[in-house]
Amino acid sequence: MHSRSAEERRAELVELYREAQACARCPLSKTRTKVVFGSGNADADLMFVGEAPGMHEDQQGLPFVGRAGQLLNKLLEEIGLTRDDVFIANVLQSRPPGNRDPQPEEIDACKPFLHRKIELIEPKVVCTLGNFSTKLLTRSQRGITGVHGRPQVHELGGRLVRIYPLFHPAAALRSTKTLEELREDFARLPALLEEPPPVPIGAVAPVAAVAAQPSEPAPPTLFD
Ligand code: URA
Repeated sequence: MHSRSAEERRAELVELYREAQACARCPLSKTRTKVVFGSGNADADLMFVGEAPGMHEDQQGLPFVGRAGQLLNKLLEEIGLTRDDVFIANVLQSRPPGNRDPQPEEIDACKPFLHRKIELIEPKVVCTLGNFSTKLLTRSQRGITGVHGRPQVHELGGRLVRIYPLFHPAAALRSTKTLEELREDFARLPALLEEPPPVPIGAVAPVAAVAAQPSEPAPPTLFD
């Protein structure tokens, strides 16, 4: 259930897109070719958050259009989804020169855009791709190798959302073992999307309702 209509949320997303086009909150605004806001379905249940645009993304103004993007498309196809079913964004909207790591000030400057996108799209599941988006959205320094493939519930954009950390597809292009693990984690996504919304700790179902539905699985709790 969404809190506002798809039209309202899409209109605000367009407004945010315009704001991003003009953004000069960090020095990357001087070196970028195009702002990479993100693309896909504004009403998606599933959102992906990568790191930052690379050369191809910077030229086209679209996320994940290079080799890592082609792998992402393939992995989506393997679970019966296309890019039109999901929304894809990044921690940074501008390309760091030479594809260097995002700097803390750049992440801080761009962060409000990402949070607003999540707030407007209201996804059920956010897949963080690699260390930067995982650490930012889980608000933890635990790296992707230790947390991938295990959903965590966090408050994002005023709602409880399942974050599902995954290896970055670019890392999977460099290692067959990582690719296998990424594929295995992807295979669990359809079931995760079917799970009922997370329930806040302390929000216990009334006894009568529980008694009336003895076969219902128990609702998941925070930080499972
Ligand atoms: N890598 C990312 O993290 N994001 C892109 O958009 C492309 C490659």
